[in-house]
Amino acid sequence: MSLEKELKQRSDSKCEICSAEENLQVYVVPPTKTESLDKAILVCKTCVSQIEDPEIIDVNHWRCLNDCMWSEHQAVQVVSWRMLNRLKKEGWSQDLLDMMYLDDEVLEFAKATGEGEDESDKIVHRDVNGVVLQAGDSVVLIKDLKVKGSSMVAKQGTAVRRISLDNDNPEYIEGKVDGQHIVLITKYVKKI
Ligand SMILES: [Zn+2]
Repeated sequence: MSLEKELKQRSDSKCEICSAEENLQVYVVPPTKTESLDKAILVCKTCVSQIEDPEIIDVNHWRCLNDCMWSEHQAVQVVSWRMLNRLKKEGWSQDLLDMMYLDDEVLEFAKATGEGEDESDKIVHRDVNGVVLQAGDSVVLIKDLKVKGSSMVAKQGTAVRRISLDNDNPEYIEGKVDGQHIVLITKYVKKI
């Protein structure tokens, strides 16, 4: 049986997102490339065009997520989760997301396209003035710093070139002072 037939059987020939019965097609959930029943959904043209192009999203159309997010099929759950994330600014969508539960494996798949990544969740390093620091930037110390584990003091005004960032902690960056690799605290440096 073809994938389309299997999906039609599973969905009773309805869009698995909004229940429309017209213009249905198979949507293989990215980043999956191989067609398989558990990684594909049957969707209508309205849904798929908005899934594929966030620019044309019609918020009201997606009220249907309220129902389809509870689907037993993981591909439907994944698409619902991604769309809810895209609409997170809408209060109702955030509420639904809060209620939604995905198995770890399914959640990992849902996140695989980068959907749902929140800017505010990303670790951002900022200097004393709040300027964003990036790997490779140069900074200057704004106070004398004792270097942990040595008698060395890195003097205020010392420039540290080509810093690297601690990807686990927004308060730490690393760089070389007098040939020694040290950890610096972002609030004691200024970008130059
Ligand atoms: Zn639909």
